[in-house]
Amino acid sequence: MQTTPNHDLELSIIIPVYNERDNLVPLERKLEEELVKLHLDYEIIFVDDGSVDGSPHIIKSLRKYNPKIKLIQFKNNHGQSAAFAAGFKVARGKIFVTLDADMQNNPADIPLLLEKTEHYDVVCGWRFKRNDPWVKRVASKIGNAVRNSLSQEEIADTGCSLKAFRRECFDNIKPFKGMHRFFPTLMKMEGFKVAQVKVSHFPRLYGKSKYNIRNRLFASLHDLMAIRWMKKRQINYDIIQED
Ligand code: UDP
Ligand code: MG
Repeated sequence: MQTTPNHDLELSIIIPVYNERDNLVPLERKLEEELVKLHLDYEIIFVDDGSVDGSPHIIKSLRKYNPKIKLIQFKNNHGQSAAFAAGFKVARGKIFVTLDADMQNNPADIPLLLEKTEHYDVVCGWRFKRNDPWVKRVASKIGNAVRNSLSQEEIADTGCSLKAFRRECFDNIKPFKGMHRFFPTLMKMEGFKVAQVKVSHFPRLYGKSKYNIRNRLFASLHDLMAIRWMKKRQINYDIIQED
């Protein structure tokens, strides 16, 4: 994935937004509260994925008093992976942190992830005590088990958006719809080191989840088979001599 060659900041926070009107003000407040403590140069990139509830207007009003905020606004809805891809493309940080816009992730966990990036390239949040309806928790457990088994992987919670990446992790990623669920696997295939950390998770207070069993579990099965194939067919060789 081509990212901007300009990486003059330490940290880029990248947040996909799809109809999250009531979450944006408290999220920005909480993020700022946590980020100032880190004493790092950072930016917050909101990628509006075609919201129809006025979310971009709220981001624009936040930007008036917070110059660290950037807004990328899609004309239509293209999905979470597209929103991430657009954010990564313009991000200027050496480290990228991703999280949801719905206040279910905790910005206070960001330092935990950053600490781990000193020794790892990718750090995945693991929503150990997940605060979602039981149907979703069960679907996610099954989804993670199937994904781990078919792709010979051991990532406990691939759906947790709270992750940190060294920007180089994206250099050789070919963007595709649904890719965000496979970042750790795709990056391991590139030789990057992946860690997991337990993070907190809150119930969604405002707005609605954009996923259900049909559009999450079944859609990602196709992607899983492609990843499984790609992993099996990966070219690996040891060179003993090269003149
Ligand atoms: N999202 C997005 N585009 C979409 C669907 C979701 O940008 O087409 C964003 C959404 O606004 C949220 C994040 O992706 O910030 C995760 O979505 P959601 O909270 O609905 O997923 P869940 O937590 O229920 O798995
Ligand atoms: Mg959510």
